[in-house]
Parts: sequence; structure tokens; C-alpha cells
Amino acid sequence: MDDLILGLLALAFAAVVLTFALALAFAVLAATMVATTVWAFGAGLAAFARDFRTSVVQRGGARRTPRAPEPAFEIYVLHQVFADFRHAVEHAASVLGATRQRLGGFAQQYQSGPTMPVSIGAVGGGYVGTGVAGLLGMVTGLAVGAAVLVIGAISWLVIWLLRTADALRRRVRHASYECPTDHERFPLPVYICPACGAEHARLVPGRWGIFKRECQCGQTALPTTVLAGRQRIPQRCPSGHSMSGFLGYAENLPIAIVGGPSAGKSTFLAAALLALDDPDAGVFLEPLSESRDAYARLVDAMRAGVTPEKTVDQRRPALVAEVQGSGRSRALYAYDLAGEVYASEDKVRGLRFLARSAGIAMLVDPFSIRRVAEDRAEELAAQAAQVLPSSEDPMRVYERLLATLKEAGANTQEMPIAIVLAKSDALGIEQEIQELAQTTADDRAVRTWLEANGAGNLVRAIEQDFKQIGWFSVSALGRMPDPSDTTPFAPRRALAPLLWILACRHVKPSHDTTAVSHTAQRLVGSASDFPPPSKRARNRNTIAVLAAIAALAAVPILALSTGGHSSQSLAAGGNFPLPSTGQGPYAPGTSSDSAGTGKTAPAGAAHHPSHTSVPAAVTVLRHHLEDLDHGDYAGAFALMSAAYRSKNPSWVGDRATADPMVNIIRIDAPSYRARNAYIYVQFYARDRNPSPGSDTKCRRFEGVAQLAREGRAWRYDPSGNDYSVSVEPSDDPNCHP
Ligand SMILES: [Zn+2]
Ligand SMILES: [Zn+2]
Repeated sequence: MDDLILGLLALAFAAVVLTFALALAFAVLAATMVATTVWAFGAGLAAFARDFRTSVVQRGGARRTPRAPEPAFEIYVLHQVFADFRHAVEHAASVLGATRQRLGGFAQQYQSGPTMPVSIGAVGGGYVGTGVAGLLGMVTGLAVGAAVLVIGAISWLVIWLLRTADALRRRVRHASYECPTDHERFPLPVYICPACGAEHARLVPGRWGIFKRECQCGQTALPTTVLAGRQRIPQRCPSGHSMSGFLGYAENLPIAIVGGPSAGKSTFLAAALLALDDPDAGVFLEPLSESRDAYARLVDAMRAGVTPEKTVDQRRPALVAEVQGSGRSRALYAYDLAGEVYASEDKVRGLRFLARSAGIAMLVDPFSIRRVAEDRAEELAAQAAQVLPSSEDPMRVYERLLATLKEAGANTQEMPIAIVLAKSDALGIEQEIQELAQTTADDRAVRTWLEANGAGNLVRAIEQDFKQIGWFSVSALGRMPDPSDTTPFAPRRALAPLLWILACRHVKPSHDTTAVSHTAQRLVGSASDFPPPSKRARNRNTIAVLAAIAALAAVPILALSTGGHSSQSLAAGGNFPLPSTGQGPYAPGTSSDSAGTGKTAPAGAAHHPSHTSVPAAVTVLRHHLEDLDHGDYAGAFALMSAAYRSKNPSWVGDRATADPMVNIIRIDAPSYRARNAYIYVQFYARDRNPSPGSDTKCRRFEGVAQLAREGRAWRYDPSGNDYSVSVEPSDDPNCHP
């Protein structure tokens, strides 16, 4: 009886002990699992956060490349952020793989005996941690996608607004891009980076930058709109002529100076410019950089008493200058059209310009009017060398001008035309006009003189076609030219026709010299005017982007956490604009479980120098085989175990002779035993050159490769390989990839 009681007590005691032991084992297992889960997850999360943060701060760093066709980088959040996110996920995956390896090693020490629960817990924790990290990666991926979608939509809205604002400004200001050299008009000049000389052909808000764009050189951030100061960047016409920033920024005032050959066009222009140099002129004029030389030549000739050269170059550039009266400054294009231009083959060039003119100054040489020439035949013959009468009848010049304007579709009723009687200092014409001025209105005297001297038809024709007509006579030189006389020419009334045209275009003289803006001078920028974004600005933007991503990540997390209880929140989650599943290679889940397998990680991803962690066994094996295939035999050799290398000192030389190809088909996740990793692998190999011990046949390898742990690193150790090898037909495509 006592035995029975004793036996029962012992049994009960044993049961209690066993229950306690089991409970303890489960508790240990659970605790280990929780701890290792947190560890693995934490390691993955930290790796991801560090990598992604660094990438975002550096805007992708070395991975970032300019996006053709423009020599500039794309907006970070529209493109590079994806690559950086992927990089961070791959990095986290490799860290998770390494963590699981360490947990596996740890588990091996405790896999038998009473510590077995610790072993199971550690291995389990590694996988649960990876799973949790993968889930979080998926949510973050969706959040990044959603953030990019939202930011992208806002960006394009802002881009559209900015483009519209710029176009509106140009329309209101009547500004357009026109090359003074070839008279071509175009929607946008080519902007030249002042740091590296790269040509930006479409410097507008867009995928390369909203307000500014970063040039490929990384030295400059160029403004994309006039409102942001784009006009200060050096610009060229599409044909390569350099243009002042003022052109295309200010309103254009193209003025054509027309007349027959030797009618005095160049002299008139020079005289008008000289007169404008006078501070009392009331109109401030400053030649732009591209015209400074031509301007100086004209004005210097006038001051030296030498007549300016006759316009012979039909492609002569327009003289461009900033002009300012009482209002805003404008871009004056004075186009001294060679007499023959719009009469001849090169008509189109002149035609385009003429049709756009803000005003026309037509020079009439009185001695080209037949009656005047006949009446003063004797005097003319005596002074022909100085007077140089134009050979062309002004009526014919006018007819051609009108035909050209009509052909180009110009509205002559809206176009002011100044009829300028040139050479009035010769043969007493000035006196005749002055006498007429006493009996007629002053501004009609020239008209009356022309009518009275055989040009009535011309006067009537002009009055029929034009509504705004000004009649002027000028003495561009102030005296007859004489090679022996070098006193400066003193032009008389040469400014009046120009001022009249300017006034028709609302440029009124002003004597307030303090109001002169010198705008053109301020539109000259150098590289230091367009610095790339500061570190602070970048950090500020980074915080904004990360905050947006975090905010968007919070929405699905909240929806998930409350989704079980509330149908409303599910509906909210359903309405949330997630990106479509076709988001490319970032489809979360695939990349996060690539942890130790390397199967989905793109080849070479782990080559990146930012990887400071020890490469996983799979990566080492893959690199060894790839190096072998690429011909980097020393690199492949370095990835082999020390024991194998010491036994095969001629390995590198032998491989160099045989020049093998290796075509990797499959590399699986490793399993671990003691200090070794075993990886199932399939590949094809063939030596390209026959050499002792080589095999130029196509062979298929399938089986388990052995890697050995040396310190913290994995090394390929063929001594424990277990391959089956089959010889394939020599033309097998797997051996000729
Ligand atoms: Zn540059
Ligand atoms: Zn050009």
C-alpha cells in the first residue's frame, strides 16, 4: 500500500517536473524567438533606413546620371527615388540574410540537448523577423509609390502653371527670341551652362527640374523660367550665334531701314545713333554686347568725319541696343537692309524681318528722283563724287517694299513708316524745304517738296497704303563729305525719324536719367550666380519628401490595424490611390525575400561600394563564377578558400590559358553545417582554349557547391563539391549565350 502511494506520489512528482520542463522549454523557445525576431527585424530596418536616408540626402550619389537628351539630372522624386528605394531594399535583404546566417550558426551550438528550444527559437525568429521586415517593406514600397504619384501630380501641375506664366509674360511683354545675326525667330534659345558649357536646348520647367535644373556638371542649378532669372544664363540661337540675355526678355522693337543703293541708309543710322548718344536726346540707348563693335565703328567714323561704309553684306547683323524712354526698356533691332536684299534671291530673309517690323524708315535720295536729277544736272555732274546719287528710282524701291510686305502678310495700316529725305544738305534742298515750312505745316514740308519735285506718285502711293506716315528731311553728315576735312560730322535732325517711330510704339522721351534701368547689363550671369542647391536646402527637401512618405505609409497601416473592426476604414483603404501593381522591379516581397538566395537580386547589385557588410555565401559563389566567365581570374581566385589556393598555386595561369565561359542557370539558398555553407547550383561551362587538363566540350554542372567560413567571410571551397557533370552537344545554346 505504501509502495503504491509512494509510486503515485513519484508519478505525480514526475508529471509536475515534466510539465514544468515543457513549460520552461516553450517559454525559452518563445522568448528566444521574440528576441531574435526583434533582432533580425531591427537589423533589416536599420540597414534599410541608413541606406535610403543616405541615398535621399545625396540624391542617389554615384548612381545618379544625367537623363538624355538634356544634359541635366531628372527631378529626384520622379525617377531616382525608385532606384534608391530598390537599392535600400536589396541592402536590407542582404543584411537580413547575413543575420539569419549568424542566427543559424548560433542555433547550431544549441541544437541538441536541453538547449534545443533556444536553437529552434533562434532559427524561427530569423525567418519571422525577415517576414515582418518584408511586410513593412511592402507597405513602405506602396507608400513611396503613392508619395511619388502624389508628388508627381503636384509637380506636373506646378510645371504647367509655370510654363503658362512664362508664356503669358512673353505674350504680354511682346517679347520673342530673335537672332540679330540671321534674323531667325524661335521659341527658345539654347542655354549654355556657364560652368561646363553644356547646351540646354529645352530649359523649361519639366522632368529635369521645376524651378531650377541641375546641370550634368553638378556645379550649377539653372533657373527654368524668366520669372526665376533664366535670362541671365548665356544663350545662343539654335544656329549658334550668341545672344544677349536681354533679347527675348524685353519687348522687341525691330526697325527696318530701307532704301535704294547709296540712298544713305548707313549714314542715316550712324547719324541717328550719334544723336542718341547725346544725354539730352531723352531716349537712353545702349548697344548690346553683340553690337558694341559695329556701333563703335559707326559712331567713330562719324566723329572722325569719315562716311560709314556702305552696307554691302546682305547678311549684315541687325544692330541691337537697349532703348528706354519714360517706360520700360526695350530691345531695338535696327536692321540696315542692304539695298539689293529684298529685291533679290535673298528676299526671304529680309521678308521675314520686314513683316515683323515695329516701324520702317524709308530713305529717299532726292537725286534719284528723275526730275530733281534733270533740273540740277550741271551741279550734280560737278559734285557727283560727294553726292553719290542713288541709281534706283524711289518709286521702284517703294513698290518692291510694298510687294514684300504684302507677300509676308504684314498689315501696313498698322505699321508706322517714316519717309526720310536724305542728303538735304546738298545743292540747296534744305533751304527749299525751310521755305516751304513757312507756308505749310512743318511736318508737311517734305511731303509738299516731294510733290513739287516729281515724286507726287510716290507720295500718293504711300498715303494709300499706310496710315501712320512721318515726313522728315535729314542732313546725316551736317555738311558735304570731303576726304580732306576730318572735322566731326554734325548730323542735323537725324534723330527725329527714329524718335517718331519709337513714339508710335509708346517709347516717349524722358529726361529723368535716374530712371534708366540698364537692364541688359544686369542680365549677365556667371556660374557663381547659379549655385547648386545647398546642403541645407537638400536636407529641407529630404525632410519634406520623407514626411510625405511617412504620412502616406501611415494611412495603409492605420487602415490595416482598424480594418478588422470597421467597414468604413476598409472603404477608406479601398479609396486610397495606390499605384498600379505594374510598378516595375520594386514590387515589394520579391526583393525583400531575396535575402540569402540572391535569385532576384540583379547581378552586380552587391558590387556597389556602399555595401560594407560581408557578402553572403551566395554572393561569393556567384561572383566567383562571374569573375571566371569575365576573365577576372585573380578576382575569382581571391574568392576561394585558403586551403584550395595553397594546393593549386598555378590556378590563375591555367584558367587564363583555358579561358573558360560560365553560364549560371540557378543558384539556390544555402544550408549550413558547422563552418560550411552548401548551395545547390546549376551552370554550364566550357573552356574556350584547349590546354592540358582543360575540356572544350560543353558541360552541364548540377549539384551542391561548398563554401567555407574564413573569419567573417565566405570562400568557395571546391574540396566539398558534389556535382554531377554531363557533356552536352557542342552547339548547345547554353554554352553560347
Ligand atoms: Zn554644367
Ligand atoms: Zn542665329
